[in-house]
Amino acid sequence: MVAIHEMGHALTWHRAGFQIKTIRVRGRGNGTTGYVDLDNQPNRTPEEARDYLIGLLAGREAEHEWCRITGQSSDTYGSSADLAIYRRYRKYDWANERSVAHLSDGELQAAARKVINARWSQIVHLANQLAQHGRIRL
Ligand SMILES: [Zn+2]
Repeated sequence: MVAIHEMGHALTWHRAGFQIKTIRVRGRGNGTTGYVDLDNQPNRTPEEARDYLIGLLAGREAEHEWCRITGQSSDTYGSSADLAIYRRYRKYDWANERSVAHLSDGELQAAARKVINARWSQIVHLANQLAQHGRIRL
């Protein structure tokens, strides 16, 4: 589930053109943690800022899709840290730029879900590799 969550972030950012150094997961069971290492500061333009926010939400969307398919409950791996960053970023100046401000949270979430659905088989495939090796590169 953590691998699915991280691949949701990674593929969404990758598709938007962000450079990704590595994707990692560590630990087992409920103690598993993971992260995506982005190569550069992604918020130079309003479009990048928007795509960064969509990628932030994509981890949770991937997790929800996984739970929907497998019937697992979704509270074993939280997205609260992602959402805290998301809310903080929404308050920055660039978030008031034309390409971001008119988008509601629901629209950004729908955009994240769309990428997850379109890339689902790739997410599952790469998440398996990630879970097996602990890290992968795109
Ligand atoms: Zn996350």
